[in-house]
Amino acid sequence: MQNKLRVAIVGCGSGGPAAGIFLARAGHDVTLFERVPSLKPVGAGFLLQPTGLSVLQKLNCLEEVLQYGAPVERLYGHTPRGRTILNLHYHDLQTGVYGVGLHRASLLHVLCQEMEKLGIPLKLGTEIVTLQDAGTQSCLVDKEGNTYGPYDLVIVADGSRSSLRAQLGLTCKVKPYNWGAIWFIGEDKEAHFRKELYQVFQSTKTLLGFLPTGFTPGKETAPLVSMFWSLRLDQYDAWKEKGLQPWKDEVLRLVPRAESFLTQITEPEQLIRAGYFDVVMKQWGNDRAVVIGDAAHAMSPQLGQGVNLALFDAMVLTDCIQKADSVSEALAHYNQQRKRHLRFYQFATRWATPFFQSSFTPLGLVRDWVFPYGLYVRPWRLQMIRAMAGLKRGIFRFSMPLGSLQLKQLPEPTSDGQPQRSWFAES
Ligand SMILES: Cc1cc2nc3c(=O)[nH]c(=O)nc-3n(C[C@H](O)[C@H](O)[C@H](O)COP(=O)(O)OP(=O)(O)OC[C@H]3O[C@@H](n4cnc5c(N)ncnc54)[C@H](O)[C@@H]3O)c2cc1C
Repeated sequence: MQNKLRVAIVGCGSGGPAAGIFLARAGHDVTLFERVPSLKPVGAGFLLQPTGLSVLQKLNCLEEVLQYGAPVERLYGHTPRGRTILNLHYHDLQTGVYGVGLHRASLLHVLCQEMEKLGIPLKLGTEIVTLQDAGTQSCLVDKEGNTYGPYDLVIVADGSRSSLRAQLGLTCKVKPYNWGAIWFIGEDKEAHFRKELYQVFQSTKTLLGFLPTGFTPGKETAPLVSMFWSLRLDQYDAWKEKGLQPWKDEVLRLVPRAESFLTQITEPEQLIRAGYFDVVMKQWGNDRAVVIGDAAHAMSPQLGQGVNLALFDAMVLTDCIQKADSVSEALAHYNQQRKRHLRFYQFATRWATPFFQSSFTPLGLVRDWVFPYGLYVRPWRLQMIRAMAGLKRGIFRFSMPLGSLQLKQLPEPTSDGQPQRSWFAES
């Protein structure tokens, strides 16, 4: 777009700052609003897929992210009896490709540093509660009653519990899942969990996972691991009342090598409870505002796509804005552009989640019989790997070629799976 737009972005998670950086670089006047007064590390680690990494590369943030992140070469999951259910290697797509486990704080740190370099104002402690019409533009009103704007474009990136998306007048369905997870991030001094997202599945009621999560800025002593345990949310209080020991015994029965890791957990409160939502919208933008990230399409984290999709939204949105003559034309184009990618992951996540997290245990038996055979059928396995990598845009054949991401050669992980903190300094 020729004109310099005044853009407000609500939410400084992952999609919000990414959109801010892209748009500021394109010459627009961007302001970010974030309700928390200081950006603290909340939530668990997540897995960046090749799609998310390619967006970070375009943001000029990839090298720094790779210095904090932990290379993840495969997703591996089995039953307690040792039956392999998932064994998906990124290198089956292309040699040298992998995912990156990262702490939320590290991504935010890197993105905020880049925003600072570009001089993007970030208004912390500002909870936006109302989107107000101002002729052809919009204003924002915060909890204290302060008004900001007018803005040519408002980007709503306020997460799965968004209070603003309903104000856009777009059709939206929000459904919470009964099942969620409890999380703990701890140090992995003995290097028991490296190079893979490791999961154990028993029926549909037990899911235990370990994700290498790299380092957080300023704390680069021992690498971190995120542990997650699936739980029906209404059973959380009962789980807490039972005390930690029976749960720890169960974890050790499933994964004996977690013993030293578990010594870091002494109180149930150290485990963070996370619930998920399905958010389904037919369109994400009207003629002057757009919803991106979890606010637009939250889903269960079963396929590990949320951050990656939020980053991709930001990139595609900027591209649509740059190519259009008006905001409404850009947002109409954005609605078209994002449809297939987002619809596929919403469908696939809704379809896959009950096989791993639900009270309907026969699905666990189906999973234990069907999934392992899928691993031996190369075309099926490749479809699963493409889905994991974030590339799918349709059920059977449709996927983005990996090459279309233009992801550069990633540094080879060290033999013990450590993040490549020295690689860029040397290269
Ligand atoms: C347990 C769990 C595990 C996950 N694992 C993965 C994974 O492995 N891989 C992956 O890709 N994704 C994963 N996800 C999903 C991922 O966390 C989300 O998809 C991602 O954080 C979405 O980013 P976002 O920017 O849209 O929203 P968020 O990160 O939620 O950011 C929204 C921001 O908006 C702010 N905000 C909210 N309301 C307002 C307001 N009114 N005014 C101002 N600011 C506001 C919030 O404080 C927050 O900072 C996981 C999620 C969960 C719950």
